[in-house]
Amino acid sequence: MHATLRESTPAPALVCRLPLASSMPLLRFSRQFAVGLVVVAVVAGCARTSSRAPGEKLNVATTTSVLADIVSNVGGDLVTVTSLVPKNADVHTFEPRPADVRTIASAGLLVMNGLGLDDWLRKTIANAAADKTPLVQLGVGLPGVELLPGETVGTQNPHLFMDVKYAELYVDRIAAGLKSADPPNASAYDSQATAYKHRLETLDGWVRAQIATIPAANRKIVTFHNAFPYYAREYGIAIVGVAIKAPGQDPSAGYTADLIAAIKAAGVKVIFSEAQFPTKLADQLAAEAGSKVVSNLYDDSLGDAPVTTYEELIRWDTEQLVKALK
Ligand SMILES: [Zn+2]
Repeated sequence: MHATLRESTPAPALVCRLPLASSMPLLRFSRQFAVGLVVVAVVAGCARTSSRAPGEKLNVATTTSVLADIVSNVGGDLVTVTSLVPKNADVHTFEPRPADVRTIASAGLLVMNGLGLDDWLRKTIANAAADKTPLVQLGVGLPGVELLPGETVGTQNPHLFMDVKYAELYVDRIAAGLKSADPPNASAYDSQATAYKHRLETLDGWVRAQIATIPAANRKIVTFHNAFPYYAREYGIAIVGVAIKAPGQDPSAGYTADLIAAIKAAGVKVIFSEAQFPTKLADQLAAEAGSKVVSNLYDDSLGDAPVTTYEELIRWDTEQLVKALK
């Protein structure tokens, strides 16, 4: 099920898959140039006749609720966006249902993260016979992304969107995909993307200012699954360890023992868990290491109010970190 499709995997059926030229050294590419390439790829590979009536909204299906919110902000009233994974659910271990196949079959644009977060979508696309529907893979070969230590292109941690700067790069790709699928509304998508990116710029500055209020010695955490490395790197927090290597995999006793030792050695005050996962393991770690648990962070999925948008998610997590670490 977790067939890991790397960027270099040939996918002849997916004529519309993004980005093109995936073996090119896209890291540190000129952002404008790369966005332009993506547009060309969509237009060249995915020119298919729209079956929409004039004025009918473009149906977009995304894998996660976080991506759905970002697409909604770029698409505005011109799109109807459906997230396959419901809020408060785990994308990593998600199993698509028959209704998801129908959602994909009726979509004019598909949006996923890639990099192993939501690769189950490919099988669902095949089941929906939607191989010709344009597919935007937001995280794959994203220009301007710096690898984490020890990573290689194509095997990166998929949670790029937790760094607001990278979410802005997602917006560029989403705008390119929407414009290609719905050319008559291209200028509206451009202006909505620009307005949203301004808001994300403000959010990014706010996160920096908030994290700066945490005493430097306290800026170290353990999280449940490994969703925060980009956030941590961008905003100046050290990740001492993660409770599980991947969702759906129980850690070995040896792994957990090593983590407890690392928590004690680093003097980590707080173990953060996420709302969509059980807290049993985090509670156990905290009890043995003498830390406390904060179990309500959000990353892959939105939740109930006040975490119903990507911006609210970033604000919420930042506030929980500041409150717990100050
Ligand atoms: Zn995740």
